[in-house]
Amino acid sequence: MPEQTTDESTFTAGRPRHAEYVDNPVNAAMARVLDDVRREDHPGAVADYIPELAKADPEQFGIASVSVTGRSYGAGDYRTPFSIQSMSKPFVYALALQHLGADAVGERIGVEPSGEAFNAISFDQSGRPENPLINAGAIVSTSLTPGDDGAERFAHIQAGLSAFAGRDLEVDDAVYRSESGTAFRNLALAALAKSTDALRVPIEDALDPYIRQCSLLVDAHDVAVMGATLAYGGLNPITGVRVVDAAVARHTLSVMTGCGMYDRSGAWMCSVGIPAKSGVGGGIVAAAPGEYGIGVFSPPLDEAGNSARGVAVLQRLSSEFGLHLLNRPMTPVSAVESVSADPASGRVTLRVRGELDFVAVEQVVHEALSAGQAQSCTTMVLDLTDATRVSTVSAYLINQLAADIGYGVRLSITDPSGLLADPVR
Ligand code: GLU
Repeated sequence: MPEQTTDESTFTAGRPRHAEYVDNPVNAAMARVLDDVRREDHPGAVADYIPELAKADPEQFGIASVSVTGRSYGAGDYRTPFSIQSMSKPFVYALALQHLGADAVGERIGVEPSGEAFNAISFDQSGRPENPLINAGAIVSTSLTPGDDGAERFAHIQAGLSAFAGRDLEVDDAVYRSESGTAFRNLALAALAKSTDALRVPIEDALDPYIRQCSLLVDAHDVAVMGATLAYGGLNPITGVRVVDAAVARHTLSVMTGCGMYDRSGAWMCSVGIPAKSGVGGGIVAAAPGEYGIGVFSPPLDEAGNSARGVAVLQRLSSEFGLHLLNRPMTPVSAVESVSADPASGRVTLRVRGELDFVAVEQVVHEALSAGQAQSCTTMVLDLTDATRVSTVSAYLINQLAADIGYGVRLSITDPSGLLADPVR
């Protein structure tokens, strides 16, 4: 019987209640979390600032997740289409970063959690929007994507967001028309950005593609793939297409960590702790770096404009599945797979495994130095056959070890994949 380490109230042993999901325990666990949240009271109201959004069915509720290894799971209404709205913002921001680089984008948009609502008049003293993930900053992000006019810019955005999702995303025309007929506040935000030169293209060439990007139709599975692409360093784990560079993905996730949930971003980080972005269509995209993308859909919004059940389900998932970003293992898995000594030849072999980052190599260096002290050791073999990746600092430390191991010991390295010669940052 495996040891039970998860929350006992949810994962009691026995037959799963969801016969339709017994094919896969992960689906069954997600369905159970969804059902528990559905039975609780999470007050919220469907967005009604445009008529099209007000038509959403408040009972719809779905969740999907996609691992960075490309495995997909889902429960509830995870194949129901809805408009992406503000969840487009981190992805368009990523496209702007990819096009111009972080320094040029940083001259026009800050990276600070503004602690304000999605449509706030939020600019710093120089007139630069502070937060790329609320409307003022997002309209400027849209203006920083490639293209000579709004149509070209939107074509680039549509292709880019489709690459994140791994399928061609289409605009919901009714949502687009509804939004563009009433976009007076966004027009005002764009005009303010224009007045300070944060926006350097004609207002229409930023506002129109911005409204179109918000109207793209997705489902929770698409959103999970998009999140997984950021979580996987910009590489779509389903299609294998690199959408943005790893540094761009990390920068985008950093901004999502601090700014993604309107004026509840701080509370979100404490209670959920996964970089995320919500949208007024009722979606939330969350991206756990190196692990999962998660998409949630439930239209009723709480007072801050975040999906009420979406927040609740991600809180549960984070605590019960242990997904909080800062929930790091207290005892890292040892990178040293085995240490074997052959006293007759004086050889000691250290077999190491997995990703050799700083934490892993510190363990390897420590083990190598203590094994090297043995009287009989004349040659230390560092066998990297089972290593998958060597970071630059690790390569540096292994080379230092080779130079300094001391005790008259010679270090010999077995590195069939040439990882040391080509370390990654
Ligand atoms: N299209 C919406 C707007 O710009 C997006 C708002 C949101 O999802 O936060 O008003």
